[in-house]
Amino acid sequence: MDFSAWNTPTTWVTFAAWFGVTYVYLAIGITGGYHRLLTHKSYKVPNWLRYFIVSGGYFALMGAPISWVAVHRLHHQKSDVPGDPHSPRDGFEHALYKWMFDMEKRQSVEEIRKQVPDLLEDKFLCMLGVDHSAKQAQLCLWVNIVARVIILLAFGPVAFTANLIASILVFWSPQFVNTFCHLESWGYRNYEVRDDSRNVPWVGIMAMGEGWHNNHHAFPKSAQHGIRWFEFDATWMMISFLEKVGLATDVIRPTPSLSPAEIAAAKAAKAARAAKETVVTASSDNAELVQSSETVEAVKEKELVEI
Ligand SMILES: [Zn+2]
Ligand SMILES: [Zn+2]
Repeated sequence: MDFSAWNTPTTWVTFAAWFGVTYVYLAIGITGGYHRLLTHKSYKVPNWLRYFIVSGGYFALMGAPISWVAVHRLHHQKSDVPGDPHSPRDGFEHALYKWMFDMEKRQSVEEIRKQVPDLLEDKFLCMLGVDHSAKQAQLCLWVNIVARVIILLAFGPVAFTANLIASILVFWSPQFVNTFCHLESWGYRNYEVRDDSRNVPWVGIMAMGEGWHNNHHAFPKSAQHGIRWFEFDATWMMISFLEKVGLATDVIRPTPSLSPAEIAAAKAAKAARAAKETVVTASSDNAELVQSSETVEAVKEKELVEI
């Protein structure tokens, strides 16, 4: 096969455009849709936009949104302790991909339903699956195959190839977050939270802001994951833009605003655990980062209740 005919400026522009649009649409679907919008309710958008953003995650082969959210909420509740669906403490390959194959045994339909009472009202999301069965995964796979065949037939092999490469990269980005961002040998921490979460710069870039995972575990409900000036968070830029143009509301930021009762409850829970004192180390060049350990713990406690 002679590929020299492909080496033209038009081909490369087409490739770059399809790669870029696919990457952003699919990655934002996971980070801005499945994760920050559905799982953590970090911001609100009108329903039409909500479905559009979330659709990117489905076309990135993430499976049924409800099933994904149930796994991720469980991850926050049990981060790096027994019950975490994908902690690297259970093995690198387990955290990277093996966990996906036994979720049906580890999280029943009843447990999923308990995790996502807020999403069960959405009949369309329910239609895509409320379990970890092969059936819902196959539905997602077939929808994705049909979409790629349509791209190939309608836009040709260059568009198809660019779309495929971008899709593969995006598919792996959340798996890299689950793995590298919970491994001590990678990245750094801004906050001494109870789990092993880390900020890993290359994952931060690749996963459009999700690699600042230690920040995320410290402030799970925040729509903003990149906090220090160099922590580039493309998803947060998108959410900020939507907020500026009036499409996103109730955007939650990393500075928590908890009621005195909530803080008192969190302190009591902390004392009961007799956990060793958490020390928040923040960049000395960014005073905004300095949080009291009680506040971080309070956020954590609040999160356990709310997600
Ligand atoms: Zn995590
Ligand atoms: Zn999360």
